[in-house]
Amino acid sequence: MTVRDILIACCVLFALSGCSESDDATTDSAPPAKSVATTPSGDEHGEWLLHGLSGGEQRFSPLDQINVSTVDTLGLAFEYSDFVVRGSTRRGPEATPLMDDGVLYFTGPWDVVYALDARSGRELWLYDPEVDGARARVTCCDVVNRGLALQGNAVFVATTDGFLIALDKQSGEVVWKTDTFIERDSHHTITGAPRLAGDVIVIGNGGAEMGVRGYVTAFDIETGAFRWRFFTVPGPGPDETVDITLARTTWSEQTPWDHGGGGTAWDSMVYEEATDTIYVGVGNGSPWPGWKRSEGKVYDNLYLSSIVALDAETGLAKWHYQTTPGDSWDYTATQHMILADIDWEGKRRKVIMQAPKNGFFYVLDRETGELLSAEPFVPVSWASHVDMETGRPVLTENADYSQVERLIAPGPGGGHNWPPMSFSPLTGLVYIPTLEFSSRYSTLDDGEGYQPGSRNTKARSVIGNPKDTDPASELPPITRNSHVLAWDPVAGKPRWKSDAQPLGGGGILSTAGNLVFGASLDGNLNIFNAETGALLREIKIGTVAYAPPMTYELDGEQYIALLAGAGGVGMRAHLPGSAALAYENYERLLVFKLGGGDIPLPPAYQKLEENPIPAGLPTDEETLALGERKYDRYCVRCHQKRNIPSGYPNLWNMSPDTDELFDEIVLNGAFEYAGMAGFSDLLTPEDTLAMRAYIAQDRRQVQEGAKAEDPEAH
Ligand code: CA
Repeated sequence: MTVRDILIACCVLFALSGCSESDDATTDSAPPAKSVATTPSGDEHGEWLLHGLSGGEQRFSPLDQINVSTVDTLGLAFEYSDFVVRGSTRRGPEATPLMDDGVLYFTGPWDVVYALDARSGRELWLYDPEVDGARARVTCCDVVNRGLALQGNAVFVATTDGFLIALDKQSGEVVWKTDTFIERDSHHTITGAPRLAGDVIVIGNGGAEMGVRGYVTAFDIETGAFRWRFFTVPGPGPDETVDITLARTTWSEQTPWDHGGGGTAWDSMVYEEATDTIYVGVGNGSPWPGWKRSEGKVYDNLYLSSIVALDAETGLAKWHYQTTPGDSWDYTATQHMILADIDWEGKRRKVIMQAPKNGFFYVLDRETGELLSAEPFVPVSWASHVDMETGRPVLTENADYSQVERLIAPGPGGGHNWPPMSFSPLTGLVYIPTLEFSSRYSTLDDGEGYQPGSRNTKARSVIGNPKDTDPASELPPITRNSHVLAWDPVAGKPRWKSDAQPLGGGGILSTAGNLVFGASLDGNLNIFNAETGALLREIKIGTVAYAPPMTYELDGEQYIALLAGAGGVGMRAHLPGSAALAYENYERLLVFKLGGGDIPLPPAYQKLEENPIPAGLPTDEETLALGERKYDRYCVRCHQKRNIPSGYPNLWNMSPDTDELFDEIVLNGAFEYAGMAGFSDLLTPEDTLAMRAYIAQDRRQVQEGAKAEDPEAH
């Protein structure tokens, strides 16, 4: 099916559902209309063929059998939970399933691709790319995969260890496989969904926290042959393109280029067929503090934290807009971007919209990159506003943590992270899963220089306590809540906001049934009236779901599908209110329909039996201090400490047997396949002995109730 066919089908669908077929601009007051000629939604079969459903990634479905009047009877159609698991660690699915011709395609942890009968959940095939388990060590936020691309007879998946693979849609057999990394021993990863862009398929990567150089690469859809590469920041060699020559003028000449610079494009891209443009969202700087990238002075550092419009034929930039010049706060602009045509001061504008981590909601003219609106959608303390003349944020005193620790909002998780938002052309609203929190930022001088394959942020952040304030911030104390926020992009303000949810809500779907769907950390799938925000249903699933719901229609029946399972960044600490504290956590695909059955809840969470503390380890202060330093540097970001609930093995309950095997695991990589790589490149046997000693000593102190740690430190 061509895009033109989809467009026609889309018009038919809108006509069937009583919507106007007009190409008129849509606003909150405009009649329902197909919002963008180049952004079709679904097709006549009720399929979901593209990652963001429509070409503009609006994640708005014209299906309306499930609607405000019928949603009461929504129940379970089927569940699938036969995911590939390595070792005993359960990880989180983050993908948007695709549905084509009665088959659901999605990814789970370790980039495994699943094809199921979309009526029954019966498994048709699965493809396991057998990714390198050692690569898990350099993921920012675990071995996750946000989805697939699908065209013709092929399904495309990108893997944690850097391969882009085309599979035969019917059999799951590999058609072609290509290496997307510029060097095999780099510390890049891939977690995002590849995007189709004309006759190429484009993929970026992650790894900015590790100290890598970001880029996106385009490959021929038919053959997998290399077509072009856009680097997001300059590198040590000669400039690859004119775009890099321009970018280099915004970096210090003294920049240590072998430290990478960051700018990884790890999630959002959106393609516009009419202009053959692929818009790419670029990530944060590495290390985090701008003054550490440039020995004191902060430069803009293009194209960090920018939206870049690329010609899909050449990979050259048409325009760029930098949301956070000189980023020092992990304020990526990799968050979901939506294309729409809306009425703007009496004129129809083709816009691109984004709610990036930095807390401002941006509306840009996507033909020129002109800034139309930038308003805070969550509490923001690092900037007072965005200057509409210069397009630049105006920093507050609170933004500068170079000398003292600062409590800054948003924190590095952002006012909005990767869980996608949704734009309904019927209501004219953008539905955002927001994060309202602050973090205490400080620079980190641990005496260690740049270390390849390790976290190289040179900054530390700890989630703020809701009671905390910063003298340099004018904001009142900030909660640790999530909301579903209905944002009016024309007015630049919220229309409605859901009740508070625990921090960490899932992605959003909106539909022509006047419904908005999104999961909350407490293990509910919440369904709102899209117009008013009234909570219509709170379906208890008992599992954390960060992934966005999707919908499809088959044999006249509409389904809602949702991938669930606590994972990704949420693996590190199960925050208060998380369903993972009440129920066993594992990967699930839940599919709902009208008149469906009850949703089975996972078994109640079982606390592990307490293991004895290993005896006979050193207790001298020097050894304990070395052990703590090394543990904090290399281990705490996954394993936490002091029994903080997390998705990873709790080393504060390590058995004497495991302690005996510590060097086999930590130095020699005995559990590499399951995601625990060896660290012999960074740690010595002296270090590991000190770590074991520190853990044992601290466990004794915890038993005596001597220490308590903030559960959200990371
Ligand atoms: Ca980051």
